[in-house]
Amino acid sequence: MHDSKDRELGMHRKITRRDFINGAAVTAGAAMMPWHLFAADDQAPEKSPNYYPPALTGMRGSHPGSFDAAHAMRDGTFWDTVGKPEDTGEAYDLIIVGGGISGLSAAHFYRKANGGKARILILDNHDDFGGHAKRNEFRVNDQFRLGFGGTYSIESPAPYSAVAKGLIEELGIDVPSYSKYVDKKLYPSLGLRPKIFFDKETFGVDKLVTSISSRSGNESGEGSGASAELLKQFLADAPIADQAKKDLQRLHQEPKDYFPGLTSDQKKAKLARISYANYLKDVAGVHEDIVKMYQAVVHGLFGVGIDAVAAQDAWGFDLPGFAGLKLDPAPGKGMNRDAIPNEEAEKYFFHFPDGNASIARLLVRKLIPDAIPGTAMSDVFLAKANYAKLDESTSPVRIRLNSTAVRVKHLGDAASAKEVEVTYARGGKAYTAKARNTILACWHVVIPYICEELPDKQKDALASAQKVPLLYTNVALRNWTSFQKLGVSSVYAPGMYHTGVNLDLPVSIGGYQCARKPEEPIVIHMMKAACRPGRPAREQHRLGRIELFSTTFETMERKIREQLARTLGPGGFDPARDIAAITVNRWPHGYAYEYNSLFDLFWLEGGETPCEVARKPFGRIAIANADAGAYAYTDEAINQAYRAVVEITKS
Ligand SMILES: Cc1cc2nc3c(=O)[nH]c(=O)nc-3n(C[C@H](O)[C@H](O)[C@H](O)COP(=O)(O)OP(=O)(O)OC[C@H]3O[C@@H](n4cnc5c(N)ncnc54)[C@H](O)[C@@H]3O)c2cc1C
Repeated sequence: MHDSKDRELGMHRKITRRDFINGAAVTAGAAMMPWHLFAADDQAPEKSPNYYPPALTGMRGSHPGSFDAAHAMRDGTFWDTVGKPEDTGEAYDLIIVGGGISGLSAAHFYRKANGGKARILILDNHDDFGGHAKRNEFRVNDQFRLGFGGTYSIESPAPYSAVAKGLIEELGIDVPSYSKYVDKKLYPSLGLRPKIFFDKETFGVDKLVTSISSRSGNESGEGSGASAELLKQFLADAPIADQAKKDLQRLHQEPKDYFPGLTSDQKKAKLARISYANYLKDVAGVHEDIVKMYQAVVHGLFGVGIDAVAAQDAWGFDLPGFAGLKLDPAPGKGMNRDAIPNEEAEKYFFHFPDGNASIARLLVRKLIPDAIPGTAMSDVFLAKANYAKLDESTSPVRIRLNSTAVRVKHLGDAASAKEVEVTYARGGKAYTAKARNTILACWHVVIPYICEELPDKQKDALASAQKVPLLYTNVALRNWTSFQKLGVSSVYAPGMYHTGVNLDLPVSIGGYQCARKPEEPIVIHMMKAACRPGRPAREQHRLGRIELFSTTFETMERKIREQLARTLGPGGFDPARDIAAITVNRWPHGYAYEYNSLFDLFWLEGGETPCEVARKPFGRIAIANADAGAYAYTDEAINQAYRAVVEITKS
């Protein structure tokens, strides 16, 4: 049975995506470190002309082999598996741990402050640079297609700071010019619009229904401003209980003050302490089908559902049920920054076909011009990175991939030491290098394991930055005629494995052409938040992380094929025929944790936050990364890099 179902789904199709070590790597302990890129005698796989991570498919993101050294440090087994570290004899002005946007920006700011001859080493445990800002490439029927493996766009709930905006401009990115490159009319002109997929396990039947909202994907919002006509159609089509239909109509069209007698501030204070799911159930008294329908609507922002997002934030997102409360439009205390509307910030938006990997690539080009040919933003999209140039002894800046920092310590007392020694694991061996200063631009949860000399209070604060686990899956399709037949551009699927399925924004830029005809190959994007509804957010993230690390690519692939077959099958989609390649970008350590008024009391009360404690400089070590601002956006990664550079430049 299983075999014939698998054949229908196309699991047997030989495509180059399957990562043969995936299953083993997921469960392997430190004793079996799969240093998969390193042949026995090869200490520099990046020098091979065949080394080109963006074109790899299968399990990407935190790919097999990237996290074993860090997990062995966590488990206390690392030092049993490697010999005595070998001294590289290398001495730098600055060693940066983490080659994401924060680490790359830190290198850029440091050079600006200290001159272009400053010697900098950037270490990253992944096989590609950019951190979450990763590029996925596909070639289907001789057409080149790009996808974003993580960071989607330049966007932020609050306006970019002068520093972050300044860097974007220095890279040659003209954000206001975005409208020249995106064809906003393409999908509407083909009759495509956002829809909701109701699945039979959750709602009794598989059905694709036109969404109430015109916004796309899992942030479809299903906002309070649905037009009467759309709502009427939705109520006629949606496979939800009759009572749920009445309740949905009531939520949208019969505003009620559920807290009469309270001031706006008092109401907001109450909303900050109750989840939106409980508000809908216990305060608005709606049928459970409504709660199920909205459950995943905030996954794309928080990586958890409405059970773990405050009703006050739901109000900020314009979800229904609040009109009758007549709340003062000013943000309430303890609101998550994502939930605070800001018109200026909304206008500052740019989506590149490979997401913010373009920012990472432009930064790398500035740091190591030979690594990415070209001179302008417009030529970066088709430029092929030369990984062999990233780590050359003649270059003042070196990026060393596949290298996990495992120990960072001052040589002597932190207050008076002149140097920091960084030990890193690479290809099953440990090495040391020295620097006058170090910036830890890596994930904060890692830092307590690699920098033992930090004060305990700071280590606790660093450890509390539990990242949000996510899957960003790209599926290359031979065509998207099924989307056209079904009139759908994006799908919100609250009960499915991936809760969002989207045609990418149609952006053509710098010689790169997006798919314009449904008969052409396209990359569709699917999003999953690994969460466990009903528990505190950090606990959900912890369990979700375990889930993502322990699920094989084969299992994920089967779920992807099944989901697409069920959703798009009525439009003629055949997964065995239409899927050309799958890249799952697994991010068990995804978004930076953002404070939440349901679980983080300090966020309502004010005072020093954990990220402020976590990012304090220590001797010659400064701490960057988006975690340092508890804010999951590119601009924060840049802001924190700048602060860290200022701190070490002063020291
Ligand atoms: C799936 C996803 C989508 C996102 N979408 C957006 C978006 O659309 N817009 C937006 O503004 N922001 C978005 N963000 C957030 C944004 O990507 C981040 O805020 C930003 O890129 C973080 O950059 P960073 O350098 O701080 O961290 P990272 O990108 O995480 O880089 C840190 C690097 O350090 C490495 N590292 C960790 N430990 C070690 C070690 N011991 N040794 C060596 N290296 C180590 C990590 O592996 C990683 O490569 C998204 C994030 C995710 C996960």
